[in-house]
Amino acid sequence: MSADRPVSYPDVAGTLRQRTREAVADAELVGNLRASADAWAAGRTRMEEQHAFAAMRERARQIRTDAVGRLPELLRRLESEVRAAGGHVYFAADGAAACAYVVEVALARGARLVAKSKSMATEEIKLNEALEEAGLRVVETDLGEWILQLAGQHPSHIIAPAVHLNRGQVADLFAAESGRPVPREREALVAHARGRLREVFASADIGVSGVNLAVAETGTLCVVENEGNCRLVTALPPVHVAVMGMERIVAGWDEAAHLLEVLPMAAIGDDAATYVNLITGPRRAGEQDGPEELHLVILDGGRSALRGTEFEEVLNCIRCGACLYSCPVWRSVGGQAYASPYSGPIGAVLTPLLEGPTSPSAELPFLSSLCGSCDDACPVGIPLHDLLVRARARVRPPQRRRERAAFRVWSHLWRGRVGYWASRVAARVGLRLLGRRGWVHRLPGPGAAWTSQRDLPSRWPPT
Ligand code: SF4
Repeated sequence: MSADRPVSYPDVAGTLRQRTREAVADAELVGNLRASADAWAAGRTRMEEQHAFAAMRERARQIRTDAVGRLPELLRRLESEVRAAGGHVYFAADGAAACAYVVEVALARGARLVAKSKSMATEEIKLNEALEEAGLRVVETDLGEWILQLAGQHPSHIIAPAVHLNRGQVADLFAAESGRPVPREREALVAHARGRLREVFASADIGVSGVNLAVAETGTLCVVENEGNCRLVTALPPVHVAVMGMERIVAGWDEAAHLLEVLPMAAIGDDAATYVNLITGPRRAGEQDGPEELHLVILDGGRSALRGTEFEEVLNCIRCGACLYSCPVWRSVGGQAYASPYSGPIGAVLTPLLEGPTSPSAELPFLSSLCGSCDDACPVGIPLHDLLVRARARVRPPQRRRERAAFRVWSHLWRGRVGYWASRVAARVGLRLLGRRGWVHRLPGPGAAWTSQRDLPSRWPPT
C-alpha cells in the first residue's frame, strides 16, 4: 500500500530518536508550541461550553463512517457531477500519477507560474518538487506555507503549518528574502506578505488548491480558509487544479453543512471559518469570476487499501489538527520531528499506513504516551488511541526485543497474587532508595532512557 513517492521529507535529517531529542532540547521551539496549544485549548473549552459538542461529534462520526462505507458509489457520483458542470476528473492511483497529471496540465497550458493554497494532499505527494522539476515556479500563498517555503521546511501542523516559529523568526526570514529589515509586529509581517504575494495572484497561470470536502450530489468542492488566499488561487488564474484525498467526500449538503460547522470548532475553537469557498465547475458563460478550466485530481495513494481493515476509521479524518494540539508528545517535539506532512496522533497512525510497515515511518506510532487525549479531542470520534496500539503491533523493530521481554516478565508476574504484590513491594523499595526529596531523577540501566526526559515519583501520591 506504499505510495511511489515516499511521504518522508529528505530535508529532515537524523533518526526519529535524534530528531525528538533535538526538539525537546530547543526551548524556543517548545515555548512556541506550548503558546499555540494553550490558545487552541482556551478556544476549544469556550466552544465546548457553548455547544452540545458530544452530540455534534456523534453525528459527524456517523456522516464520515457512512461516506467511507459508500466511497466507490459517492466517487462515481462526484465524478459525473463535476464532469456535468464542465470540469475534468482524474483518478490517481498514487502520488507519482497525480503529480504527472498536474505537470501535464501545466505544460499543456504553457504555464510558468503556479500559485498554491494550503493542501496536505499536495504536501503528501510532493507536488511542488514535481512542478519545479518540470521547470515551473511554485509559490505558496497561505501565509504559514509561504513562511515555510522561505525556510525550506515542511509543515509542523495540519492547519497551522508554521506554528513552531515565532514572529521574530518570521521577520528574519522575510528580511532575508526581501533584502530589507521587516518589523516583527504582526501587522507589519502580514502587510509584507500581502505585498509580496499580491503579484503572484495576479500573474499565476495555474492555481492549485486542496479540498476540505467534496459534495457528491452536486459535484461541489468546499475549500475552507481564514486568509482569503484560496479564493484568489481558485478564482483568478485561468486554470484551477484541485487535489483531494479520495476519502474527503460526503453524500450531500446536509452532511457537508454539519462537517463545515464542526471543522472550525475543533480546529480553532471558532463557530465558523472566515471563508468557505464552494466551487462547482469552471466559470460559466456570463460569469465574471472563476477559471476557464477546472481539474479535480482524486488521490488514492494507499487509501482504498485501508477500507475494510482494522484501520478503516483513519479515513474518517477531516484534518482539523485538534489531536495534534491535544497531544503531549506533539506539544513537546512539534511536527518537524515526525518527518511527515501528517504529524501528531493522526500522523503517527496514517503515515506508516501510507508508506508501509518497513518504511522509516514505521516507528511513528511509538511517538505517543497513549494517554488518550487525542480520542477526546477528535471531532469525528476516531479511536486514535486504539489505532496507535494496533499500528505498534504491526512493527517489530529489533531494538524493542528487550522491551518486549520486560513486558512478558511483567505480565507473568501480575498474573498471580504473589507475583503482583512482590513486584509492587520491590518497586516501592527500589524507588525509595533511588529517590531524592520524593522524586527519582535517574533510573539505572535501560530505565535511564525513560528518566532522561522526565522524573518519576518515588512515592505515591507525589509530594
Ligand atoms: S484524527 Fe480527528 S482530531 Fe486528528 S486531525 Fe483528524 S479529525 Fe482532527
